Amino acid sequence: MRQKTIGVMGAMPEEVNGIIQLLTDSEEVRLGMRTYYTGQLNGVPIVVVFSRWGKVAAATTVSTLILHFNVSEIIFTGVAGAIDSGLNAGDIVIGKRLIQHDLDGRPLMKQFEIPLLGVQYLEAPPEALERAVKAVHTLLDGNHLFSAVGEKELRTFGIVKPKVVAGDIASGDQFFASSKAKEELLQKLPGVLCVEMEGAAVAQVCYEYGISFTVLRTVSDTADEQSHIDFPAFIEKISNKYSIEIVKNILQCL
Ligand code: SAH
Repeated sequence: MRQKTIGVMGAMPEEVNGIIQLLTDSEEVRLGMRTYYTGQLNGVPIVVVFSRWGKVAAATTVSTLILHFNVSEIIFTGVAGAIDSGLNAGDIVIGKRLIQHDLDGRPLMKQFEIPLLGVQYLEAPPEALERAVKAVHTLLDGNHLFSAVGEKELRTFGIVKPKVVAGDIASGDQFFASSKAKEELLQKLPGVLCVEMEGAAVAQVCYEYGISFTVLRTVSDTADEQSHIDFPAFIEKISNKYSIEIVKNILQCL
């Protein structure tokens, strides 16, 4: 039987570049302003691509992975702003439920309801969620992350004991960089752990095509006045290495 191909999407070019370098039998395919890299990582056939930013871009990219490359499931890694006050830079959030915080068809339907699907949240398939939680626990427990990223680099960002949590992720076409915007989001959606710009769109496309998905987010900033300062340095030094380790660990659990 032909082995299944996994689609790997990253929210930043820096996050996919490290994975692309590890591919064997790598080939590039240019489509719609995106470059898709096919190949194998640790013997698993994968297609890696930078999602581009925002819901429309991510939905387009994931559609191409499904329809053109025939991937059987999606792993999305990226950074996110923390909404829950218990989260710090370097913590990893795995999406259990994904919601589009800027989707509002009232009074025709409920706030956040996805037109025609009739739901507000999309849930990650339980098996994929369980596998991701296990993979990230292994990564964090085994001190592996410290050797991969470097203890000194992690300490520079105050990352001492990163944790993993599974829960609600909110996505929308907005970069959160103020305490006020953060407060407003929390009032609308009290259970949200972190905010980003692609995950719920990817979840919707996967749901509509009936394929499995995992959305993992490393906290890069606290979605407030400080976020545009913390964010670029974090990408450059930390999250590029996180994404390699996260993806490798999940593929090992397949
Ligand atoms: N670096 C780009 C912008 C990246 S957009 C530029 O300078 O033009 C931000 C990316 O990080 C998106 O993929 C989004 O999902 C995620 N992200 C990280 N922190 C976020 C925050 N505070 N609010 C919204 N998205 C955030």
